[in-house]
Amino acid sequence: MKKELIFLGPPACGKGTQTSKLAKYFGFPHIDTGSLLRAEITAQTENGKIAKSYIDEGHLVPVELVGSIIKNRLSQDDCKNGYILDGYPRSTEQADLLTKINNEIDNGNSADFRAIYFDTDTEVLISRIVNRRSCKKCGEIYNLKYKPPKNENTCDICGGELAQRKDDNEETAKARFETYFNETAPLIEYYKNKNILKTIDAQGSIDEVWERLLKVVED
Ligand code: AMP
Repeated sequence: MKKELIFLGPPACGKGTQTSKLAKYFGFPHIDTGSLLRAEITAQTENGKIAKSYIDEGHLVPVELVGSIIKNRLSQDDCKNGYILDGYPRSTEQADLLTKINNEIDNGNSADFRAIYFDTDTEVLISRIVNRRSCKKCGEIYNLKYKPPKNENTCDICGGELAQRKDDNEETAKARFETYFNETAPLIEYYKNKNILKTIDAQGSIDEVWERLLKVVED
């Protein structure tokens, strides 16, 4: 059965690292709305121009804009056996829209839809955000404190240059947490009430969290 996996959790909770690993494991596309929006900004599209101001302020990009990007992406052929959706939905309005989009695309065929919540202590996350770096070429994520590259500013995997995201500064990070608590955290109850929420303890090493994740996606 088609697997539709979505992930909830505060900024920098480790979702990106785990979900890209999971996508490779299942052979599904890893669809990360933050990266899709940043690509629109780099390409200077109309959507990118609109999205930029919201991202720079740590606010959610308007629901219609992200919805149309997601609908296009989920309609592509590589999603027909399943997808890993990282960073969408981020509000109950987006969650309702996702149900509608899935129903249209799945066209009466049943799918295994699961929401996985990365439960973690938010105190340490601001420090994780300001120390986060990612490879400009392959997107691998590092952390100067917790997962430093072997050579300064250089990706261990492809040798690309590491960069800091513009919105990974302390001020924008604080705004992103506020947005998360106001808009996204209500989705935990939303999916719990529908009996499709799986919660994992997202604290510990990458390998420890990975083991917990596999248990809730494979059963
Ligand atoms: P992320 O890379 O997931 O940390 O997302 C970076 C920024 O992109 C967020 O702070 C939002 O401004 C925007 N963004 C990402 N996903 C969404 C979404 N589902 N809805 C609205 N805005 C989003």
